Amino acid sequence: MSGRFAPSPTGTLHLGNLRTALLAWLAARSVGIDFIVRMEDLDRVQAAPEHEASQLADLAALGVEWSGEVVRQSERFDLYHDALATLRDRDLVYECFCSRREVRAEIENSPSAPHLPPGSYPGTCRTLSARRRQEFLDAGRQPAIRLRAAEAMAADGTTLIEFTDLVGGDFAGGVDDVVLQRNDGVPAYNLAVVIDDALQGVTQVVRGDDLLSSTPRQLLLQRLLGLPTPSYAHVPLVMGDDGERLSKRHGSVTLRE
Ligand code: GLU
Repeated sequence: MSGRFAPSPTGTLHLGNLRTALLAWLAARSVGIDFIVRMEDLDRVQAAPEHEASQLADLAALGVEWSGEVVRQSERFDLYHDALATLRDRDLVYECFCSRREVRAEIENSPSAPHLPPGSYPGTCRTLSARRRQEFLDAGRQPAIRLRAAEAMAADGTTLIEFTDLVGGDFAGGVDDVVLQRNDGVPAYNLAVVIDDALQGVTQVVRGDDLLSSTPRQLLLQRLLGLPTPSYAHVPLVMGDDGERLSKRHGSVTLRE
């Protein structure tokens, strides 16, 4: 049993991230379970070892201690590919050839469905013909892999995923055709996070409430893959004076500063 902090090593942690880390650590300590740190460095373009080192140094400086080795997602692609193969075998995924720009335009042009996370993909490639697929491949486009959410929900016997957040209370949300593998072959966050939380024995997730609307996706993936569901506590983000979430543009926001 453990709690965790799972930053992406794409920059220096700001005070908002550090506050979330401290809350996660305190929550684990308060019930006497382990606490681990995992580096979510799936995006190898943006992630860098120096950011990882500075993030770990900042956590240590605050007294946030973790047990065991820090696990890096970049070293665990095989696990995520295996999980994807399981879903593929059950016919619960499809190839999506849309570019980011196309996805943006498609989202803008489709009515927003209630209960779905913001920016949900409207399913343009869900029923792609074999001919169209071949045209994309001939044009050199590589597909991303998406979840067939409607079929997955049906397999699970649900229409909404419900859970009780320890901060926000009862929550019910839908699941969209979330990306499971990007079109460059890199596994996507929502898949990797459920594999790692389960394999690392994480039973308590404390993280920023920007991820609340993604939690139904993660619960559904856990159920489809036969993995346990941890408890969730989504804590409010630290905001700048302008009401936007704290970031570099708010000036001195790092521990060093
Ligand atoms: N790596 C994610 C982030 O830095 C956090 C993921 C999580 O806590 O589930 O935003």
